[in-house]
Amino acid sequence: MVFENPVVKEIVEKYRVVWALNHAMGLMGWDSETYMPRAGVQERALARAELSVLSQKLLLRDELVSLVEKAKGLEGLNDYEAGLIRVLDREISIMKKLPPEHVYEFSRVTQEAFEAWRKAREKDDFEIFKPYLEKIVELARKTAEYLGYEEHPYNALLDLYEEGLRIRDMDAVYNAIIPWSRKVLDKVLEEGYFPQNHELEKVKYERGPMERVNKEVLDLLGYPWDRARLDVSPHPFTISLGIRDVRITTRYEGVDFRNTIYSVVHEFGHALYELQIDEALMATPLATGVSMGVHESQSRFWENIIGRSRAFIRHLKPILDKHLDFTRKYDEEELYKYVNIVRPSLIRVEADEVTYNFHTYLRYELEKQLIAGEIKVDDLPELWSDYMEKLLGVRPKSHKEGVLQDVHWSHGSIGYFPTYTLGNVLAAQVRAVADRELGGLYKRVAEGDFASIREFLREKIHKYGSTYPPKKLVEKATGEPVNPEYFNKYLQEKFLSKSI
Ligand code: MG
Repeated sequence: MVFENPVVKEIVEKYRVVWALNHAMGLMGWDSETYMPRAGVQERALARAELSVLSQKLLLRDELVSLVEKAKGLEGLNDYEAGLIRVLDREISIMKKLPPEHVYEFSRVTQEAFEAWRKAREKDDFEIFKPYLEKIVELARKTAEYLGYEEHPYNALLDLYEEGLRIRDMDAVYNAIIPWSRKVLDKVLEEGYFPQNHELEKVKYERGPMERVNKEVLDLLGYPWDRARLDVSPHPFTISLGIRDVRITTRYEGVDFRNTIYSVVHEFGHALYELQIDEALMATPLATGVSMGVHESQSRFWENIIGRSRAFIRHLKPILDKHLDFTRKYDEEELYKYVNIVRPSLIRVEADEVTYNFHTYLRYELEKQLIAGEIKVDDLPELWSDYMEKLLGVRPKSHKEGVLQDVHWSHGSIGYFPTYTLGNVLAAQVRAVADRELGGLYKRVAEGDFASIREFLREKIHKYGSTYPPKKLVEKATGEPVNPEYFNKYLQEKFLSKSI
């Protein structure tokens, strides 16, 4: 039994209604992104807004809050019990610190901002989005004030997405990886082994055969179809409704087929984390991945570290050749190059492993300064373009390719971008441990022994759910705190030595 203490057991009982409501809302969210008729959007938004308020009320019930308070003073709790109290206490304290008027205002502004962002992006006119973004920055600053922080208000926002993450942590990561990534990029561009373009990018495909490819890729990785689904949505995502019901999506753009496959492999990584949580944690606040950064490390591990390796391409090629007629004339090395195109580009979501972190770095630096009031929203487009040019040598010709490309700010998500890079860095760190403990990660991949890799991740990371705070989980799983040198070493091996 993971929960033995009677107070903790009572908390689990009292929490269940919150879990149940979140379960239902999760299903509504999944449906909104996949099968809901488009015209249903208004009623769905109304229903979800009402239910989120209800969920908050249920969480802040006196009987639950006072039990959590009581449990905080208990000694001798096991790790799961202590974790459960930590997670609930954190959730309750965040919700208590933010006044309802602020939460309401935030939700109202971001709803309007999303529409404004869409329109601004369509018309390539930053002025349409500007007043909303100004309001969002102001609200984010207020959020930081309500939550409290040390040293810098941005720290409070980082902490919302990644418990315990601070500017000093991310500065250390970026200071370690950005200069080295630049060197690797220069060398890669000079050598030309990893191409900047590939003719396969232009080849059109039919959706039917590609769906069969994706299904077979998931079979290969060991996707449990009795507990998981694959559907289609405009933006690929993963949602866990429970440990035995996890759903991923991909999209079919009809061209440049690596995108749909690698979305699937990426989301598989997210899904596997949720699927491999210890079932004893079912229907508790611990039954979910612990943070955005740790979650992204799992998706990046499968997508990049495994999926874009030569050892994996060996398995992918026969699947492609079986369902698609146009891949047969390309050998494994040529397919490997196609999925590992390296080019300095303007768009984050299209960025490769070498250039990706420049994109989050730019946003991270701008966000810090925005929140500190050191720069103005008005100056963003220009600052963005200058910074892009300085980092990657490319300059947006439109706002669509620059400051208006991401949806995140319109959702009010400030402090989120750095967790993508934290994920990349952690994935490389996990790879080093996997290599050691599995007797060679790529040997296992080459053998098609994905079961051992899944098991390794289950034991090291997945089974705990949110039991340990992210920093502690990383130390427990890898034997040390976040160490960006593993990422640098990975880039070296893959893109300079070409040995992966
Ligand atoms: Mg992801």
